[in-house]
Amino acid sequence: MAHLEIRIPSALRVYSRGAASLAVDASTVSEALGKWAVGHESLQRRFFGNDGRLRESVSLFLNDVQLLSADRASTPVHDGDRLEIVPSIAGGSGTPPETKLGAAEASTLTPNRLRRYSRHLLLPEVGLAGQRRMQHARVLIVGLGGLGSPAALYLAAAGVGTIGIVEFDRVDVSNLQRQVLYATSDIDQPKLERGAARLRELNPEITVLTHPGPLRAENALDIIGQYDVVLDGSDNFPTRYLVNDACVLLGKPDVYGSVYRFEGQATVFDGRTGPCYRCLFPEPPPPGSVPTCAEGGVLGVLPGLVGEIQATEALKLVLGIGRSLVGRLLLIDALELEFRELSVRKRPECPICGTHPTIRALVDYPAFCGVAAPGSEESAVVVPSITAEALAVRLKADPRPLLIDVRLPGEWEIGHLEGACLIPRAELPERVGELTSAAEIVVYCKSGVRSALAVRMLRDLGFTRVVQLEGGLNAWVERIDPTIPVY
Ligand SMILES: [Zn+2]
Repeated sequence: MAHLEIRIPSALRVYSRGAASLAVDASTVSEALGKWAVGHESLQRRFFGNDGRLRESVSLFLNDVQLLSADRASTPVHDGDRLEIVPSIAGGSGTPPETKLGAAEASTLTPNRLRRYSRHLLLPEVGLAGQRRMQHARVLIVGLGGLGSPAALYLAAAGVGTIGIVEFDRVDVSNLQRQVLYATSDIDQPKLERGAARLRELNPEITVLTHPGPLRAENALDIIGQYDVVLDGSDNFPTRYLVNDACVLLGKPDVYGSVYRFEGQATVFDGRTGPCYRCLFPEPPPPGSVPTCAEGGVLGVLPGLVGEIQATEALKLVLGIGRSLVGRLLLIDALELEFRELSVRKRPECPICGTHPTIRALVDYPAFCGVAAPGSEESAVVVPSITAEALAVRLKADPRPLLIDVRLPGEWEIGHLEGACLIPRAELPERVGELTSAAEIVVYCKSGVRSALAVRMLRDLGFTRVVQLEGGLNAWVERIDPTIPVY
């Protein structure tokens, strides 16, 4: 029996009383995880399938090296070992893209451009040749949100000649805390339109191409095929796998970044020279098991930090300078301000970039991830619901249904429904004893995403009379009681 340390990402710290690491005695990796999961049923389910096997969606590193073998669960551990779980976060190579310069293009830059890019021209590693490379480069940014905003601004400022942007959403006031591409006057406007206008204003020398709508299996190869480098700033697993697979099939680098609360991840996937996203995360996590930034929050500056790391990697790839993040996963902890690097290896059996690939075309990604398509009407999980109007009537009747608020204490303090009881969703599995299975239960959150997950969890646990408030507190405030503050 060895004494080892398990390092815990913030997304799983609800199972460690907030601790960043814990010590366990075990002889194998599987035993160590099992010991931690004792008494935490949902953690147990997250780690192990119904057959008791360690899930492929759990990415493990022992002493900073990724465990890849099929029997990794039985890997022996030793005194002082450090086992690390790297979570899939939904809510972003050695071969630089070839840029062929014609004789005319190779001539000197215009005086205007010389002045605009003078700080680049002073760098011997960039210089005139590098600036021309940037001018002829084509970079695609998937998602103009927290990661895409800073990345797009810096790539446009740097003079990347053609920037493609893919986006389907509109600017919401809650975006402005981190999505620095937009202004208050852009609220309710399409992000694609406002983002493109801002980039063109920043640098009229470049071309901004807009690709409206979500990236889908039907359009991904066509869109990504037009670019040299792809920067993934998406916020959901289907798009992550789609971008990865399209990049591997087309032989393009996928500059990845993701953020959650105070933590970020960044790397470069390139199936030609290193691991891909599927090498790091062969399977998506079970639907609903991973909180999003909309649910868990994110420090506004963090996507800025990670998006700029992505922009840095994209520019290095364009310029063909430096050492890229291929095969290296950078973990950023903003609270400790700690940067760590883990070594990610290519899986020989990877279904898309391995030695015998089985995926030769794009697949149905929402189905693969077990979720609704991004941008579709039913991107929230479909569960039994009650409308705000019907709930208002039910609350006046006797007996009243039990009202459960599954948001966080900070959100509860801003405003909540009268007579409700606060049980944050992450605490629900541990506090289920406070509920009576006979009573009618109505669960609500801000917009209906978390309450849908909570309803599913409670139904799995045998509660049959449980529904969610459709549209969450937002709908209640809009249609029943406008005096409750919203955020
Ligand atoms: Zn792979």
